[in-house]
Amino acid sequence: MKPLSLFLNGYKGRMGCAIMDEAPRQNAEITLKADMGDSVDATALAKCDVAVDFSFHSATPEIAKLCAEVGRPLVIGTTGHTPEQRALIEQCAQKIPIVWAGNYSVGVNLLNYLTQKAARVLGADYNVEIVEMHHRHKKDAPSGTAVKLVDIVRQARELSEDDVCYGRHGITGERPQNQIGMHALRGGDVVGDHTVIFAGEGERVELSHKASNRTVFAQGAVRAARWLAEGNGGKSGIHGMDSVLGLK
Ligand code: NAD
Repeated sequence: MKPLSLFLNGYKGRMGCAIMDEAPRQNAEITLKADMGDSVDATALAKCDVAVDFSFHSATPEIAKLCAEVGRPLVIGTTGHTPEQRALIEQCAQKIPIVWAGNYSVGVNLLNYLTQKAARVLGADYNVEIVEMHHRHKKDAPSGTAVKLVDIVRQARELSEDDVCYGRHGITGERPQNQIGMHALRGGDVVGDHTVIFAGEGERVELSHKASNRTVFAQGAVRAARWLAEGNGGKSGIHGMDSVLGLK
């Protein structure tokens, strides 16, 4: 494996620490790092192979802009971006390749694939409810992974954003057949649990993934960085983890 030099944004955070632990295992070195309040030196960034961002949603557009200016590929792990922030990142992806995934674990990417299959096979007779649980420090809800699962079901079932119900409270009336229920639980030190429930008349199918440590995300993110460094992302564009893993 060729040595890989990385810029890491958000290095003091939980994921930043996991990336710093994982990088040497994949022959990668963090040659530049930044956290809240640090300015990023463009000349030093230009010398890195790939930038990796696990920080805060408001920080990502600026990092993407810097990467586009110096022509460095970017791995985005941060979640919770607003539509405006997403649009700014998408503009940058016209100049550089970006891997952007709400979840870098191989298991979750398999969960995405199985959810799409199940939604298609089971069809409109099965009510879909998605439940996620994360540690009490998590700042955004629902998780990026859960948002992706909602999108997968919406596309498979041809439903709109208006069909998604974020939690329930009070006299809600009967559940519309086409609704997708989305529930975000927070507490303790849960690294990340996601369950997609397909509830039909007389049976229920549940697809679940539970992450017990952050290494799984770090492994996938460093793998994505190498995939970009080897030129697999081409000159520009946004790529998912399914492309990195060859699940497409
Ligand atoms: P955390 O709060 O532990 O760490 C975030 C770090 O970013 C902190 O050190 C903070 O100081 C820093 N930061 C905040 N604003 C910044 C800025 N403007 N510039 C630079 N650094 C800044 O959070 P975490 O658990 O490490 O998660 C970080 C992000 O990664 C979150 O958005 C989380 O949802 C996401 N995440 C994604 C995956 C995935 O697989 N895609 C997995 C886990 C977490």
